[in-house]
Amino acid sequence: MSVDGENERAAARCTRCGEIGIVLVGPDGTFEPIGQPELCSCDGRTLRILERTLDDPDDGS
Ligand SMILES: [Zn+2]
Repeated sequence: MSVDGENERAAARCTRCGEIGIVLVGPDGTFEPIGQPELCSCDGRTLRILERTLDDPDDGS
């Protein structure tokens, strides 16, 4: 198992059911839940990144 590019871990929350989990964020912005095939049972990509491992300031809207 090799690691391509730089994947970073981030906390993500499903915007539909509110489930929170840790995902790998790929270089192309895709999310991949860690330790389980899907973060929750909702269909579609409804995950929203809460917090990255990079020290970004808060995303003020
Ligand atoms: Zn969900």
